[in-house]
Amino acid sequence: MKTLQEVLQDWEAVIGLEVHTELTTLKTKMFCSCPLEFGAAPNTHTCPVCLGLPGALPVPNKAAIQSIVKAGLATNCQIMRRSMFYRKNYTYPDMPKNFQTTQGPVAFCMGGWLDLEIEGNGCKERVDLPQAKTGSYTTHVGITRIHMEEDAGKMVHIGGAEGRISGATHSLVDYNRAGTPLIELVTEPDLRTPEEARQFVQKLRQIYLALGISDCSMEEGSLRCDGNVSIRRRGETKLGTRSELKNINSFKNLHDALVYEICRQAEVLESGGVIRQETRHYDPTEKRTIVMRVKETADDYRYFPEPDLAPYDLSDEFVDHVRSLMPELPDAKKARFMADYALPSKDAAALAGDPATASFFEQAAADSQYVKGIANIILNDVAAYLNATGMGISAAKFTPAAIAQLAQLQGSDAISSKQAKEVFAILCDEGGMPDDIVQQRGMKQVSDTAAIEAIVSGIMDANPDKVAAYRGGKKGLTGFFVGQTMKAMAGQGNPKLISQVVNKLLEG
Ligand code: ADP
Ligand code: MG
Ligand code: ZN
Repeated sequence: MKTLQEVLQDWEAVIGLEVHTELTTLKTKMFCSCPLEFGAAPNTHTCPVCLGLPGALPVPNKAAIQSIVKAGLATNCQIMRRSMFYRKNYTYPDMPKNFQTTQGPVAFCMGGWLDLEIEGNGCKERVDLPQAKTGSYTTHVGITRIHMEEDAGKMVHIGGAEGRISGATHSLVDYNRAGTPLIELVTEPDLRTPEEARQFVQKLRQIYLALGISDCSMEEGSLRCDGNVSIRRRGETKLGTRSELKNINSFKNLHDALVYEICRQAEVLESGGVIRQETRHYDPTEKRTIVMRVKETADDYRYFPEPDLAPYDLSDEFVDHVRSLMPELPDAKKARFMADYALPSKDAAALAGDPATASFFEQAAADSQYVKGIANIILNDVAAYLNATGMGISAAKFTPAAIAQLAQLQGSDAISSKQAKEVFAILCDEGGMPDDIVQQRGMKQVSDTAAIEAIVSGIMDANPDKVAAYRGGKKGLTGFFVGQTMKAMAGQGNPKLISQVVNKLLEG
């Protein structure tokens, strides 16, 4: 099979996404008052409404409507003053009502957009765009709609490999999740590369996290996304036939599944075959997509307006009230971090992307002259530590004040960068303040020029041949003298100063 880069020379990829998000931060389900709680004993959070018992009547959760309106405002959608709930009919054991309550042609949020700024490596996939060659470009992604729906229950398959249905002897069903409020965002087919698709979902996740409407965990399934993809010859305006990729549970898998699928479609079309509209499943271990089913059409679901729910009207007052609750969104935060703290765009974006990290950074940076250092520690050391431990920043033992003090000690050359790493490791294990740690362990960096000169002179006296070689032109030997001095000072010498002294004395 050709590589993506090769395929994209001749073909244009067209991608549209459907992103389903469980509103996990709400207290109750979409149409009943059963609690929303992850990890409860199976079938303990159920009632006649979410079990679909005869005569039970749904009541919409107003907090869920508030959440979807927030999502719509944050993505430049029009908030529809009247929309309706619909029934999408199908039978499957995870759906006891035999229909899913969803929305029809008019959803709460219609016609929005998000702009994506793609930087660095992601630009490589946009072979057609001259500005992508400069390492940064912006692309506009239309949002068709965001509608409200409910989640189904969860099936557990017993006896098959890895809990899969194939080979299972029997299946169990847990209705705790049935009726969980879910919002589905559908994009226009405006994305052109797997990287754009990945960054779109990442950006949307950051927005939802800032809004506080979901925990957006792809591993736990509270953020799920389907990738629709087709290809067409460059210059062609008609859309090709798409396939729809399901079972994507990480950003990497979304990217890799799209890459595979684009290359597969190119191979089929180039060998004279045709693409059928079908639903495919991505297998991350095999790194390929497999057919699940040939696509059903909307008619198969017999959509009709939900007779048990009146059309839902939103007043201007309600929408204005929700608008007044909107937090600062990641793009605005990024712009403010760039302006207020003179951070580069990439660092500002990384800090602004996660609300907990952004607030940690702002607390640490509040009265500091070493903001750049604080940003570096958070984006490198802290990020690596949280990644390795799977911990959230608020659960860690280090405080914003400790990180600010660490940046100050390092930035003012009181400790070396090597010592700063040691202090950071101690902060992770024990907490405390860097000033105390440095004092207790005698970690002060030696920045005394005379003391360093004495040590360098001693090393030069012990290595006259190397001094002669340096003076004869082997300038690379400075590294030897710096290394020996560092070693003699047990890593406590100021590296900048050592290298200055070494150069000065060798030049003699
Ligand atoms: P369904 O609900 O049947 O999946 P939708 O009309 O809601 O269908 O479209 C789903 C997604 O597919 C949207 O994100 C849309 O942008 C995308 N899409 C539609 N046609 C194509 C195509 N030819 N190639 C790629 N994506 C497409
Ligand atoms: Mg679909
Ligand atoms: Zn219920």
